[in-house]
Amino acid sequence: MKVLVVGGGGREHALAWKIKQSPRVKRVFVAPGNAGTAMDAENVAISDTDVPALVKFAKDNQIDLAVIGPESSLAVGIVDALGDAGIKAFGPSKQAAELEASKVFCKNLLRHADVPTADFRTFRDAASATAYLVEREDQPMVIKADGLAAGKGVIVCDTKAEALEAVQRIAGDREFGAAGSQLVVEERLVGQEASVLAVTDGRNIITLPAAQDHKAAYDGDQGPNTGGMGAYSPAPLVTPAMLQQIEERILVPTIHQMKRSRRPFRGILYAGIMVTKHGLKVLEYNVRFGDPECQPILMRLKSDLVDVLEATVDGKLDEIAPLVWDDRPSVCVVMASEGYPGKYQTGRPIRGLQDAAKVPDVKVFHAGTAMKGDQIVTTGGRVLGVTGLGDTIAQAKLAAYTAVKCIRWEGAWGRKDISDKANA
Ligand code: AMP
Repeated sequence: MKVLVVGGGGREHALAWKIKQSPRVKRVFVAPGNAGTAMDAENVAISDTDVPALVKFAKDNQIDLAVIGPESSLAVGIVDALGDAGIKAFGPSKQAAELEASKVFCKNLLRHADVPTADFRTFRDAASATAYLVEREDQPMVIKADGLAAGKGVIVCDTKAEALEAVQRIAGDREFGAAGSQLVVEERLVGQEASVLAVTDGRNIITLPAAQDHKAAYDGDQGPNTGGMGAYSPAPLVTPAMLQQIEERILVPTIHQMKRSRRPFRGILYAGIMVTKHGLKVLEYNVRFGDPECQPILMRLKSDLVDVLEATVDGKLDEIAPLVWDDRPSVCVVMASEGYPGKYQTGRPIRGLQDAAKVPDVKVFHAGTAMKGDQIVTTGGRVLGVTGLGDTIAQAKLAAYTAVKCIRWEGAWGRKDISDKANA
């Protein structure tokens, strides 16, 4: 088979690396990829949102399966366009991807499906949201821009004054552009968070082991939010009984409701879950593998990923044998550029990757890297996802950080406490 992975982050490197291990696969292309995917697969210089160019490449090269990483590619309808051209593509249609691209759509769907989530109201402008808030007592609220805002369109507020300011930023000042054309105002929940991902073909579901990511920039969950500074899996916070409950009461009803809404969902359904005193609640859905969660999850997968991806596209997930997982937990530590998540420096030569590659049970997935001559240099905010396996979470953490210590570039940094939540 010839497989095309669309995207260029750590998630896509992990996907390409795992797909390449399938005995069924001859060639793996990654568009646009990074320096890591250039080593484990073949890069194609096409942007991950350039739909016509991706379709042309897939047709010209007789791609048997395309696997879409980023939400931005799904939101512009890459799966529909590839499907129309007769190419199998793993991921939801543009209409089904609304589950992530519109928080208003997602919250209304959850309400109709009777899936537990924070109580909410939706608004079309700043004035009506403001009027609603003014009438309410002062309590912690969360204000969300409807559209995709690179993870930044959610403002968690302690007081009414903060909530009013958040409404102004999102819907008044349009800080997140068109994403702020609608608003969700919701009850603020309290609890620990976990990520539960499932593969679904719209009828059948395979729920994957839970993960926890680390969104805040600094140790102890301090500082601004990022795309994710690390993740580990499985997450002991989510017991087997909870995982089953999440499948039965959250994921399955969501998939059924998507079907009833004539937006059958195929691909990865990723539930951001909060474990509250009043039970499990959905914070949000993503419609693709999380990055970095994808990295520790795939590091543990022993089954052939290509079989699973293809069966999903074909609507035959029920024919797939139960997935086999490495018993050992996995920890992924993100190494980032100086300045990230704000304005960051790039073009810095990375040293020590060969030493890191010698650390047993570790794989260094690349995100923001490129080749410059014969040097690997930094090109993004999140640069590497150093992912280790170990007999315990502590040992997986030690393996990952042993490799992190081998790698250097000017201004490189990362959190030192990835996976410590497991002991909380
Ligand atoms: P979302 O993109 O909706 O998951 O929001 C991003 C982050 O904001 C989540 O991972 C939570 O940490 C936080 N968050 C979102 N909704 C709520 C809520 N209702 N209560 C408390 N925190 C929330």
